Amino acid sequence: MRILLSNDDGALAIGLNRLYAAVSGLGEITVVAPDRNRSGASNSLTLQNPLRMTQLPNNFYSLDGTPTDCVHFATTGYFDEPFDMVLSGINAGANLGDDVLYSGTVAAAIEGRFLGHPAIAFSLAAEVPRHWDTAAVIVQQMMKQYLSAPLDPEMILNVNIPDLPLNEIKGVRGTRLGHRHLAEPVIKDQDPRGRPLFWIGPAGKEADAGEGTDFHAIKNGYVSVTPLTCDLTHRQQLNATADWAAQLLVGAE
Ligand code: MN
Repeated sequence: MRILLSNDDGALAIGLNRLYAAVSGLGEITVVAPDRNRSGASNSLTLQNPLRMTQLPNNFYSLDGTPTDCVHFATTGYFDEPFDMVLSGINAGANLGDDVLYSGTVAAAIEGRFLGHPAIAFSLAAEVPRHWDTAAVIVQQMMKQYLSAPLDPEMILNVNIPDLPLNEIKGVRGTRLGHRHLAEPVIKDQDPRGRPLFWIGPAGKEADAGEGTDFHAIKNGYVSVTPLTCDLTHRQQLNATADWAAQLLVGAE
């Protein structure tokens, strides 16, 4: 099995190296990751500039682009042989609920969705994670399970792991995405010459975080596994939208 690894924390990130070590026995591993931290890059592609790939030791490559650029390059012709799976992470920080819309970690997995196997995004749920060993064991167990019992290839798995010692992990739960409140306001700062600077503020607090959500699983010490699809259609609103649209008499009469 040929497995492509990527992430959004950059080619030198601890989590990517832990992911590499965790899955290196499972097949032929290639790593293509951004040359710097591109967290929050979402599904962006670099269209206005050419990109440069740099080969590093151990089949690692770094690209001066986004996580999506990395997986796009790797799966559309940079390498001669096709890949079977894309794994992304292990991200330093949770990707729960609405976070997945901004996440470069999840985006890298999404970009691998045409390979015929689920792509998997792994995140360790703490601002400054400590329990990389726990995450490595969970990744290994999940990959072994996946290889013996594959899932529907038409999805992306978003896996979040509590930042706890392994013996404090309660189990693994299938979850749906929760929702957050509105993000905190931008933070105003100043550069050394007195000019204003702004930081994007922190994500909002959990709003929909009840039983069954990814937030709930993580809060209670469970690994959270959420199946994602890229179809954003709001199916319950299809008829209402069609009726509403039919009343616009554009060009009629
Ligand atoms: Mn990140």
